[in-house]
Amino acid sequence: MKTLLLSSEYADIKTAAQIIRNGGVVAMPTETVYGLAADALNGEAVRKIFRAKGRPADNPLIVHISELSQIYSLVREFPVKARRLAEKFWPGPLTMILPKSALIPDEVSAGLDTVAVRFPSHPTARQLISLSAPLAAPSANLSGSPSPTSLRHVRDDMDGRIDAIIDGGDCEVGVESTVITLATPIPELLRPGGITFEQLKDTIGEIIINSAVINPLGEGQQAASPGMKYKHYSPKAEVVLLDGDKEGFYEYIRKYGKAGEAVLCYNEDLGHFSLPCISIGSEHDYRTQAHRLFTALRMVDEEGIAKVYAHCPEKRGIGLAVYNRIIRAAGFNIVKLR
Ligand code: AMP
Ligand code: MG
Repeated sequence: MKTLLLSSEYADIKTAAQIIRNGGVVAMPTETVYGLAADALNGEAVRKIFRAKGRPADNPLIVHISELSQIYSLVREFPVKARRLAEKFWPGPLTMILPKSALIPDEVSAGLDTVAVRFPSHPTARQLISLSAPLAAPSANLSGSPSPTSLRHVRDDMDGRIDAIIDGGDCEVGVESTVITLATPIPELLRPGGITFEQLKDTIGEIIINSAVINPLGEGQQAASPGMKYKHYSPKAEVVLLDGDKEGFYEYIRKYGKAGEAVLCYNEDLGHFSLPCISIGSEHDYRTQAHRLFTALRMVDEEGIAKVYAHCPEKRGIGLAVYNRIIRAAGFNIVKLR
């Protein structure tokens, strides 16, 4: 299939909207990562997303809206805590899981009784939705690989597999949206992202952090969010996460690092290694780390690096999102340093 490359000009967004109304699939920029979008109410169109990505059919999709009023036809309940979160964080990088309405096709919810909804802030995404329909959209990468945060990433994974790509430059946040479920008695954080646990808690009070956010799923344990059970965000290179203090981190790499390997590090670490280094920002600047993480993981493969060492990120603020992605990129391959 020939993939059309579109700009973010109004005429091009109209072309993309037409493709979507005809049941096609378009990659669109959002403030988090690029999304692979189809009409959320058209099951046939949604199936094409799964095919293009190679995504397991049991991993549900997020439905994107461009006006708050659109949510009423998508969910059965919109409880007061969800309203408060919507008032404070929408449009923005927050996804809420709510009981789904009968309009949501099974392809979108992967057979669950709930639906994930997000109201993005990116002007191009919003315009595309308002010219077409609520859009089901996972990240626009091949299933399992790091999410795309630039046009080049999307082309690398999706050229020839989808109808069109809209160029929106680089994504601001760089990691996927925060996912919270409000379909449980106590709201539960399922995936950390640009809106932090601390911000959510300040807005609605008690929230549980699902254990899969920072731990691997135990044998036979059910994933509250199906996406959490898969190895994810991974480059082809082996990622080894080192958990310990800085001195231990430096020492480990000095001792075990070999030619052909590299270090994913912070600005403050540069100069401490003989291996090549890719910095994702200052160690205190979680926002920049999130913004650069997926580009850095893709760079590892572009440079033909076989193995990359990374230091465990902090679990505070947006740092929790960076941690959550990196442990999955590493397939939970974590070395505890003394
Ligand atoms: P992505 O496909 O990268 O945008 O990620 C979407 C995430 O939201 C995945 O981890 C999904 O498993 C999760 N998700 C989507 N819908 C639901 C739902 N109804 N219940 C629980 N998790 C969901
Ligand atoms: Mg994804």
